[in-house]
Amino acid sequence: MDQRFDVTERFADGAQYIAGRLGEGGSEGTHAVVDPATGEQVFSYRLAGAADVDAAVAAAEAAFPEWAGATPGERSDAMHRFAAALTERADDLARAESLQCGKPIKLSTEFDVPGSIDNTAFFAGAARQLEGKAAAEYSGDHTSYIRREPMGVVGSIAPWNYPLQMAAWKVLPAIAAGNTIVLKPAELTPLTSLMFAQAATDAGLPDGVVNVVSGTGPEAGERLVSHPGVAMTSFTGSTAVGRRVAELATATVKRIHLELGGKAPFVVFDDADLEAAAHGAVAGALINTGQDCTAATRAYVQRPLYDAFVSAVADLMATVRLGDPFDPHTDLGPLISHAQRDRVAGFVERARGYATVVTGGEAPGGDLAKGAYYRPTLITGAPQDSEVVQSEIFGPVLVVLPFDGDDEGIALANDTPYGLAASAWSRDVYRTGRASREIRAGCVWINDHIPIISEMPHGGVRASGFGKDMSAYSFEEYTQVKHVMSDNTAVVRKDWHRTVFGDRQT
Ligand code: NAD
Repeated sequence: MDQRFDVTERFADGAQYIAGRLGEGGSEGTHAVVDPATGEQVFSYRLAGAADVDAAVAAAEAAFPEWAGATPGERSDAMHRFAAALTERADDLARAESLQCGKPIKLSTEFDVPGSIDNTAFFAGAARQLEGKAAAEYSGDHTSYIRREPMGVVGSIAPWNYPLQMAAWKVLPAIAAGNTIVLKPAELTPLTSLMFAQAATDAGLPDGVVNVVSGTGPEAGERLVSHPGVAMTSFTGSTAVGRRVAELATATVKRIHLELGGKAPFVVFDDADLEAAAHGAVAGALINTGQDCTAATRAYVQRPLYDAFVSAVADLMATVRLGDPFDPHTDLGPLISHAQRDRVAGFVERARGYATVVTGGEAPGGDLAKGAYYRPTLITGAPQDSEVVQSEIFGPVLVVLPFDGDDEGIALANDTPYGLAASAWSRDVYRTGRASREIRAGCVWINDHIPIISEMPHGGVRASGFGKDMSAYSFEEYTQVKHVMSDNTAVVRKDWHRTVFGDRQT
């Protein structure tokens, strides 16, 4: 038993949550959840197979009529209770998240868990705000109105970097709008998604409204995306897998919502507050050990500030404390796995051939050698078309490059296939205003980088995908618009019937 969170006892019945009950997966395969801070196995479970996905979709289909037919007020009440149930479990959720991801406990406690609870409370309120827009006699003879209806069963697939928050972002707008859902978390990190679903049941949400299948992408994920009983696919993950998901969903004519990778630029103009920008860059690059789709990855700094910025960032990176995720003083935990650490190290090793690794660029030794740790890394001198500038590394690596004119800074910011998030740093409102208009991204921060809030949407453009998580905008994804057109005349032989009956129409 792990003293930090007792996984084995809690999930003794298995890691599938279907129709309000935990059960074993039916796949041939098992998956070992590994603590990335130690490399030790903390839990092993049978993966979901196609039959588990089918059972979860059947449970969601069975729950749909009652849940969709509940009044907005009833759904809202249930979701307020859900938020309260999550609040009661906040400590367990934080510890489980830190265990399976290696996240510093202060990050789980101060960001992941409260953010997810706040999202739940937000959507409990938003459930009562849904409405259709048009109601008028547009034709003169009919009343037209709009019904905004749930899609049905939503199939959602989530990544491992923020498992609880991703579960929240996928599940909450879907169920607030009256859908039921089958969520597939990443196989590395099922624990908090299962606990989230259990909290929903304990709060009184009917069985089958929230189901979780813990399985691999090719087996459980592809079955969920292709399943004829699923009305819509919502996916968060890499752009490469997103393309595959889009192909499968399109083949079965489903609505798709894709939240994909990012390569966020961080543009520092020469009148910026240097200290604020340097702190913002280090925090924005290292949060969650850089495994954040909106992390600051490419800082473009106007020439007069460039040298001072590089040196301030290097100094700040040296102050960041790597350590045991359960130590409240730890700033930076390990990467999610040794494979991910090796992938990140591969980018940095190859960069030594064409750029300068100013600081970091290695795994720590000593007590941390067993874990998937990697030191905060600063790279300069990389060409704009090199892989460390163009590809998502998903680790604690920041590339800093200089620029001259404002036009160049904005052009460089736009010069990758991605468009998820960006930031602009300046004291001049005209410069930041221009950057916010011209940088192609789903979110542009001004003099900050990373904060999110339940009321505001999150989502990308271009290779970062389409559609919105969080906020009332996410209801656009999880509802469909129906036009109802009702005759007001009671006339039997309507004027337009002439197009069919011609002069026989009298
Ligand atoms: P990933 O694409 O490897 O996996 C994401 C999910 O897809 C997992 O649940 C995985 O099991 C599943 N999957 C894999 N192959 C599949 C297939 N063939 N069919 C169906 N499902 C399949 O991503 P990851 O490594 O778990 O997460 C990191 C990625 O997620 C990064 O690219 C990051 O930018 C992205 N991300 C994006 C956002 C956003 O909001 N845009 C948020 C968080 C993470």
